Amino acid sequence: MDSQKINSVLIAVREAPFRTTLISSKRPDEKSIIHYPENCPNALSVDGNVFSFDYVFNSTVTQSELYDTLVHPLVLKVLSGYDCTALAYGQTGTGKSYSMGMSAEKLTDEHMGVVPRCLQNILDHTCLANQKENNPLPKLVYASYIEIYNERAYDLLALDTEKPLASRGQRFTGGTCKPVRNQQDLLHILMLGTKNRHVRPTNMNKNSSRSHAIVTIHVRQGQSHARLNIVDLAGSESVRRTGNEGVARAEGVYINMGLLGINKVLLSMSAGHTLIPYRDSILTTVLQDSLSAGAYLTLLTCVSPHASDLSETISTLRFAKSAKQVKLSPQLSHR
Ligand code: ADP
Ligand code: MG
Repeated sequence: MDSQKINSVLIAVREAPFRTTLISSKRPDEKSIIHYPENCPNALSVDGNVFSFDYVFNSTVTQSELYDTLVHPLVLKVLSGYDCTALAYGQTGTGKSYSMGMSAEKLTDEHMGVVPRCLQNILDHTCLANQKENNPLPKLVYASYIEIYNERAYDLLALDTEKPLASRGQRFTGGTCKPVRNQQDLLHILMLGTKNRHVRPTNMNKNSSRSHAIVTIHVRQGQSHARLNIVDLAGSESVRRTGNEGVARAEGVYINMGLLGINKVLLSMSAGHTLIPYRDSILTTVLQDSLSAGAYLTLLTCVSPHASDLSETISTLRFAKSAKQVKLSPQLSHR
């Protein structure tokens, strides 16, 4: 059914540099487990398994190259009124937050990630558009910042950040939207949000966040409202490796539920179902408008070069491959 279609699903992989925390355990001659077959620009191979995607970035790609290739096209769509999502997922420590630019620190141009770059492009465009004399309705830019933790959504910019916005099965009406006029406003929002996030140390990374974070940039013009969701998913590593029990183990289960929820939504759309299982996970409930007809979705799969992460890297790439297979069905082809 045509009206059920997402406009485009793109899948990219970024290889992280060697993690400094693992350098001591890294043999001096250790080479990355990820190889790039010659004459196959969008393929990589790990342990003899070859995977191909829309884009493959090796560990030398810069933040600006990644943005220009992968995310700038989404910004153009948002400015034309479409809902878009850029979502990073992968094992902890593989550069998801780095790539997405969730940092509340002012970063140099070299390290600046997706969020501030998107905002700059959007502000530049709206400023120019609003200056046109015959423009009766200005374009206004806002940002919201929410967190999904243990299948509950929390508004990180609200006065009471402990009160959940929504749980699974409930309707999600959105978080606090703050006006954004410049990078300083964004930095303030990121700082406030970061302060309010649930963070729990694991064996993988002492700052590993056990929750999904979603920064949304809203462009409003009169009745029109387009959203760009920038999603930094919690580490996808199996619960076994994080060495956590009890509450933290339950968190691990919920994390996988969010990722699987996205795949189920994509599968269900591509099969032409009329009932899409958005309510099966809070992540898909929150992203519902941006995972439906006319929207654009880009997945950034972050992977580790370390031999000790081999099995996690392969399972992360297998997930990406399954998402790619869904997208290859005629229902989700590119326009
Ligand atoms: P994740 O969010 O996936 O757990 P982070 O984004 O926190 O991982 O990255 C882990 C560490 O590696 C951070 O200190 C980050 O700045 C650094 N890092 C990740 N990717 C890169 C990169 N491509 N270039 C430079 N530093 C990076
Ligand atoms: Mg992170």
